[in-house]
Amino acid sequence: MTAIIPEISLIVPCHNEVENLSALYDRIKAVMEKTGKSWEMVCVNDGSMDSTLEYLMALQQQDHRIIVIDLSRNFGKEAALTAALDHARGNCAIPLDADLQDPPELIPELLIKWQEGYDIVNAVRLSRDGESWLKRASAHAFYRIINRMSVVDIPTDTGDFRLLSRPVLDALKMLPERRRFMKGLFAWVGFRTTEVYYHREPRY
Ligand code: UDP
Ligand code: MG
Repeated sequence: MTAIIPEISLIVPCHNEVENLSALYDRIKAVMEKTGKSWEMVCVNDGSMDSTLEYLMALQQQDHRIIVIDLSRNFGKEAALTAALDHARGNCAIPLDADLQDPPELIPELLIKWQEGYDIVNAVRLSRDGESWLKRASAHAFYRIINRMSVVDIPTDTGDFRLLSRPVLDALKMLPERRRFMKGLFAWVGFRTTEVYYHREPRY
């Protein structure tokens, strides 16, 4: 059997997300069908205690575009993302959270910017519905402090939701860092970067 390389890799770290996966899959499928592009969805089970793994395996049986990576324990989101990005086969990859806080409906806008020639397209949050005052204030303080320490500018109000082109993915693979802060590394590698904007929804 020859493997057909998909154009787009969707990257989903999953820690106890079984209740979100059905809605996530439905929304991703609907959006990707409209783009007319071939795709895969690389899901990493990051040491879930619920039946996330069983759900993903069942999904994989019915849709071979689903790729499942099962980590041996909970390593945390940064490690889960790294594992998935290393397995992505597409010409670009789009990490998004399993809880639908990163709306899949934004994917076509990310793809348009990529087709215009950008290598990184950051999805920037305009609002954080359902997030507490404390979460907003601590996130704001975090980015102010880290950007004072860092030589590269780490964009505020940008999560892991973004598009990364194949040259960026290959550059990330060459970095030796083992304990990783992906948002920092995404900024560090450089490349032509732009942004699109969206409203962040509450956890599904
Ligand atoms: N996640 C993960 N490992 C962890 C914690 C979280 O893979 O140890 C995943 C989680 O399933 C979700 C994404 O990382 O897809 C973001 O997690 P969460 O929604 O808890 O974070 P927040 O929305 O607060 O950034
Ligand atoms: Mg979340």
